[in-house]
Amino acid sequence: MPKVIVKKIHAVARWRWIGSSLDTVCVICNNALENTCTTCVRSGDGCAPAFGKCGHHFHLHCMEKWMGQNKLTCPCCRAEWCYKT
Ligand SMILES: [Zn+2]
Ligand SMILES: [Zn+2]
Ligand SMILES: [Zn+2]
Repeated sequence: MPKVIVKKIHAVARWRWIGSSLDTVCVICNNALENTCTTCVRSGDGCAPAFGKCGHHFHLHCMEKWMGQNKLTCPCCRAEWCYKT
């Protein structure tokens, strides 16, 4: 029984950490989501965020670049990537 309780607490703490970091930073380019991706920093244009059904979000441009180099998986949780509309 004690083992189960420890596991549960650990999972919650981990989820909170991932959730808070992903709310602000795009893990592909490491720029804040409220700012633009590295490509758009130079152009000065706005950069739309891409929301996935797994609950993670990234810059749309970073996601397009990622999907050109990788399988259609979320860079964060490796779940099949599907745009949330
Ligand atoms: Zn990005
Ligand atoms: Zn961009
Ligand atoms: Zn994900």
